[in-house]
Amino acid sequence: MVERFRAMMVTKEGDAQSVGFQEIAVDDLMSGDTVVNVEFSTLNYKDGLVLTGAAPVARTFPMIPGIDLVGTVESCESGEFAPGAHVIQNGFGLSETHFGGYAAKARVKSEWLVALPENMTPRQAMAIGTAGYTAMLCVMALEDAGVTPDKGPVLVTGAAGGVGSVAVALLAKLGFEVVASTGRAEEEAYLKDLGASSIVARDDLSGKPRAMAKENYAGAVDSVGSTTLANVLSQIKYGGAVAACGLAGGMDLPASVAPFILRGVSLLGIDSVQAPIERRREAYKRLAQDLDLEKLESMITDVPLSEIVEWGGKILAGQVRGRAVVDVNA
Ligand code: NDP
Repeated sequence: MVERFRAMMVTKEGDAQSVGFQEIAVDDLMSGDTVVNVEFSTLNYKDGLVLTGAAPVARTFPMIPGIDLVGTVESCESGEFAPGAHVIQNGFGLSETHFGGYAAKARVKSEWLVALPENMTPRQAMAIGTAGYTAMLCVMALEDAGVTPDKGPVLVTGAAGGVGSVAVALLAKLGFEVVASTGRAEEEAYLKDLGASSIVARDDLSGKPRAMAKENYAGAVDSVGSTTLANVLSQIKYGGAVAACGLAGGMDLPASVAPFILRGVSLLGIDSVQAPIERRREAYKRLAQDLDLEKLESMITDVPLSEIVEWGGKILAGQVRGRAVVDVNA
């Protein structure tokens, strides 16, 4: 008798998208050399786009959503991982071109997987998820660009969101003075507990951008884009840098070149989806070392997979604080 398991499936007929559960078998999964028994996935902004169909992220249908997964290896033809080993996958096409993490099993390529760090539980790995691993990539990029705590404060936009929360916690632990920008004034205490020194209102960064403004920050992690990123660039100190990873406020960039050519400011593009495996391993090594796990716990909301569609709408509306961990078997 073939074992069947629950998978969330996004299907499309014409322009109409529907999302529901199906019972499938391993042979219904896409090709790959490794079968993983999935324990947890996550909810990222991009998952919200897929679940609601708000943007064409999934490129083939039917699609199992979920851009992240953690679980144990059931079988691995390449021999890279032993059966029972805990592995993580972020991106690499999950929920875009390859079936994702919102199912009890996944079949993927072993070259996409990172071993779960020893001091991290599967739930913590998904509390980090793509958002947290991207925050780490942003911090590493700022470090590579020479942004150090002695150069001045750093700004994090979209601070109460997933990328933002992890970025605040990481930067604070690394000794930076962190200024958190949020549209949710009620999250001031949460952000200060994560390590923010002060709060800037989202509105202060969303007006018409000036070419250059007062030099307030040595660096920034921006998950918002659009006018916010343009305003951030205008406030970066001479020789500073901004790691840009998101578009929660829009995909455009109505900015001036003035900060680049008159202050030597760098705009660092961050992509997590196709980041090379060596960079991912480095990011997880750093997360295991530099992320305060108690602070991570304060970011978590546990969401059963059965409620994920509703949560997809919430994250796009900016109503999810920190990180949502998805129990795929609940
Ligand atoms: P979240 O929804 O958790 O966080 C986004 C935050 O941005 C919100 O919590 C809110 O923060 C702020 N925000 C939301 N809407 C607006 C708006 N209209 N104007 C200004 N600020 C807004 O999402 P994630 O943290 O998962 O992702 C953040 C962004 O980064 C997304 O655009 C996502 O697509 C992108 N991303 C990119 C990756 C990459 O590889 N480049 C990887 C991961 C994410 P607050 O309430 O504090 O203001």
